[in-house]
Formats: sequence, C-alpha cells, structure tokens
Amino acid sequence: MKIACAHCGKQTDKSTSEVNRARKAGLSLYCDRACSGLGRRKHRAAAQKIEEKRAYDAARRVALADEIKAQKAAYHKRTYDPVKAAAEQFPQIPEAIGRAILRVEEALAAVYMRSAA
Ligand SMILES: [Zn+2]
Repeated sequence: MKIACAHCGKQTDKSTSEVNRARKAGLSLYCDRACSGLGRRKHRAAAQKIEEKRAYDAARRVALADEIKAQKAAYHKRTYDPVKAAAEQFPQIPEAIGRAILRVEEALAAVYMRSAA
C-alpha cells in the first residue's frame, strides 16, 4: 500500500495491516527510521527546554520534598566528619586540638545529661 511519509512526504510502500494499525491508533507513518525520529521530535527551542526542565524540577522538589530531605539527611549522617568539617572551617586550629575540643564537648554534654536526669 503506497502512503506519503508524514515527515518528508516521499511515497513509500507499507503493508496494509501496518497502515490499518496506524490509522486505528491515530499514528503517523514514515518512510524510514530517520524520518520517524525526526517526525516525532517536538521542535522546542533550547530556552523553552530549559524553562520546561526548570518547571519540572521545581514541581519535583515540592512533590518529593520529604523523600529528598530524608535522602540528604542520610547522606549527611553517612559522610559528615565533625573533625574534618572543623578543619575546613577553622584551618588555623590543628586537628589534634579539634579532636580535644570535641572530647570536651562530649564530656560536658554527658555531665549536663546526668544533671538534667
Ligand atoms: Zn520520510
């Protein structure tokens, strides 16, 4: 069965069953795979794609807010090293002193927990 390609318009031969199936489903027929790929493109400008992606990301952040927050908390818990973070924040304090400060803080926290109970 001769049909015109939906993208380039070239006459091409397709089986009757193929044409019937496409008409029933409301699909377009193309002469080859290259035209099929080109014909199915949405022809959006780069700026439009960027804007659509921005809107998609914003909606996703709202829809999955709890899940994303839990993932970030899990990552922080898994990777956070207070000594390393202190060394980055206060490079002038040697790491040994940083560890000593953390030990003192832990000891004070234990004392306060005991006196509160
Ligand atoms: Zn074509």
